[in-house]
Order: sequence, then structure tokens, then C-alpha cells
Amino acid sequence: MLTGEGGALGNENNERTMKTIGYAAQSAGDKLEPYHFERRELRPNDVAIEILYCGVCHSDLHQVRNDWGIGLFPMVPGHEIVGKVIGVGNEVTLYKEGDKVAVGCMVDSCQECDQCHGGEEQYCREGMTPTYAGNDRITEELTQGGYSKHVVVREEFVLSIPDNLDLSRAAPLLCAGITTYSPLRTWHVGPGSRVAVIGLGGLGHMAVKLAVGMGAEVTVIGRTDSKREDAMELGADAYLISSDETAMQVAEAGFDLIIDTVPVKHDLTPYLSLLDIDGSLVIVGQIGPLDETNTMPMIFGRRRVAGSLIGGIAETQELLNFCGRKNILPECEIIKMDEINEAFDRMERSDVRYRFVIDMSSLEG
Ligand SMILES: [Zn+2]
Ligand SMILES: [Zn+2]
Repeated sequence: MLTGEGGALGNENNERTMKTIGYAAQSAGDKLEPYHFERRELRPNDVAIEILYCGVCHSDLHQVRNDWGIGLFPMVPGHEIVGKVIGVGNEVTLYKEGDKVAVGCMVDSCQECDQCHGGEEQYCREGMTPTYAGNDRITEELTQGGYSKHVVVREEFVLSIPDNLDLSRAAPLLCAGITTYSPLRTWHVGPGSRVAVIGLGGLGHMAVKLAVGMGAEVTVIGRTDSKREDAMELGADAYLISSDETAMQVAEAGFDLIIDTVPVKHDLTPYLSLLDIDGSLVIVGQIGPLDETNTMPMIFGRRRVAGSLIGGIAETQELLNFCGRKNILPECEIIKMDEINEAFDRMERSDVRYRFVIDMSSLEG
């Protein structure tokens, strides 16, 4: 319990910070190593969480290597966090000790702009505060993520986990889940919608499960036949091989929405003709350049290309509740904290089905 007196709290200066341990990269490209640090003193609206599980996202790997040039070090990655409440500030009303909770990709925003008011904190006009590799809005101290024993987050950015969801598998919902759920909701997917998913990794497999859960007809698009069986096991209705020109022609104008989860530079053009008139292709994988696109299928069919970033807090809670009702969970491989560097190597080779989740009980204090 965290009351602010003794226990895990308190240091020589009598500041009520919490000592904790995580795994950090000390500078760009370093291996992750054990790292002792402190979580802040509880503010009145803060929730202290003991982390039980943390998912391993592809962006963790990019950030540790500073591939996007926005890394801040030392860096404790991790933004798919599941745990239990161990203490609350005196103005917290939503959570109490013992509650099962989650934290995703952001821990704060301005709370005042039109986007925040509209429940789209991820698009906050002042920029949301990322769970790690960001700066706290009050003290500017570095935010540190979920590859650690504890985290302190303001209650507005803490989510509630439905009782029936298996905690050990829920973590990837906080990034991979909401990243695919949000576009499915934004483009009004429901019974009878024709949805295609390009790529079957961490994001793709969630897109399939969620779209199936919404009642859509789901097709997985792969470069070869190798993932057909997996796709059908995840609930897909059909599998389309993008290198099979005849099959691609037959599939023309057959989809209302395509979720593109491919995480590297690629050519959109062959996929655009698969959309029906007014259909949309939404990019959630590659952050950066694409191959040159031919606009003809867009213009001759009022087809759209869009992007989408995670989802707001209310929508993330809606996702968790939806998954609770439908018992939808990611496919996970549970690892120990000291296996993280090997997991990064395997992730780079796409050797994971479909998400690594760190069991934080394996991290010794
Ligand atoms: Zn992520
Ligand atoms: Zn805002």
C-alpha cells in the first residue's frame, strides 16, 4: 500500500518518491539492462500501479534504436501496461487500491483543446505526453515506460480492465488493439462490412479478431500463401495472395475498408483497386515514406488513403469493454524480463506469434 509514509515510498530527503526498477537503454542502440530509478511523488490526481505485464511493441524497438530521431535516454520502453492499483492521490475518484488497470501509449495531454474535449487526446493540439520518451507536463522530467515494476499516471489516463479478461494476455490491446480498433470504428465497420487486412503481425492479427468480432467479412492479404492457415484460424473468411494477379483482379472493388499494417516502405497502388467506390485504405503500420503511388484508382473511384494513430482514452476503454464482452484477446508469447534483448532480435525477424508480453514478476527488485 502507498500512503506516502514509509514502505516503498520515502527517501533521505523525505520526498515521497517511489524507488523502482526497470530495464533501460542508456543511449541509442544499447542493449536493455536493469536500471534503478524513481517514480514521482503522487499528485492529488495520480494513481500508482504495480505493473504485472507489459507488451512488447515494434515501436519500442524503433525508439530504443532512435530510428525516428525522437528518442530520449536513458529510456525504459513499454506502452502496453497492465497491473493493479497500489495507491491513489487524495483527489482520485475513479480507482482504488486493488483495481485491475491498464495504461497505453499516452499519460497526459493538455485536456483543454478541441481534440482533448472530443476524446481524441492522441491528437492533442499541444501534443500528448507519451508514456515513455516524453517529458512530464509539470516537471519536464523524462517519462519512463512499462518495462518496470511500477508506474505513476494521472487518473484520466488510467483504464479499467474488465474482470473476465486474462491479464496475462490483455496488454497488447493497449497499443496493437486500439491502433486497429480505432479505424474500424471511425469507418463504421459492422455486420456485413467488407474488410481486408494487409499483413498478419501484431497489428494485423488484432485487426482480424476485432473486425470479425464486429461482424465484418474479413479477408487477409498476404504476399504468399504461408499465412493462410493462421489467418483462417484467427477467424478470417478469406485469404488473398497479392502476387496472384488473377485473384487480385477477381477481388477488385470488393472491400469497403482496407487496414494496411505493413511496417515498411511499400507500394499501395495494387491495393487501391481492391476498394469499392468511396472505400478507404487506412495506414497504421509504416510511419515514413511509401513507394510512389499511382492516383488513378483513387480518382476513378473516389477512393481514399488515410492514416490513424492509436485512439483516445474513451475509445480505448470502449475497446477493453468490447474485448471483455466478446472475450477477444491477442495471441501472446510470455517472456521473462531478461529475455527482452533476444525478443527484440526475434521481433525483427518477425519470429513472434503475435506479440511478446513480459511477465513482470520475472523482474527482481
Ligand atoms: Zn505500440
Ligand atoms: Zn489537448
